[in-house]
Amino acid sequence: MSPIKPSSTEEEYFAKEEVEKKRKLHSDQAKEMSSAQKDELKQLHYMKCPKCGMDLMTIEYRGVEIDKCAACSGVWLDDGELEKLSGQEGMMRSMFNFFKDV
Ligand SMILES: [Zn+2]
Repeated sequence: MSPIKPSSTEEEYFAKEEVEKKRKLHSDQAKEMSSAQKDELKQLHYMKCPKCGMDLMTIEYRGVEIDKCAACSGVWLDDGELEKLSGQEGMMRSMFNFFKDV
């Protein structure tokens, strides 16, 4: 019999809970902001790296546009792009090889 890991699904559950809590907090925050404040934030942050603040560059990978930071090599995916990529076979390995060299 193979060893069972009872904690892995539990961990996943709590991780999801945590994400859900954060998502709610952030969407409440967004609701409280005026559209002028939102525009201002967008102008400040659009195409800037969320980690180091440098400009992002757009790279096309398997028909999906991915934003990459030239300074810290962080990779940013827009809504739905992770789903598009994760549907592709062998994606993680080839993506890793791809971004390693960019
Ligand atoms: Zn960066």
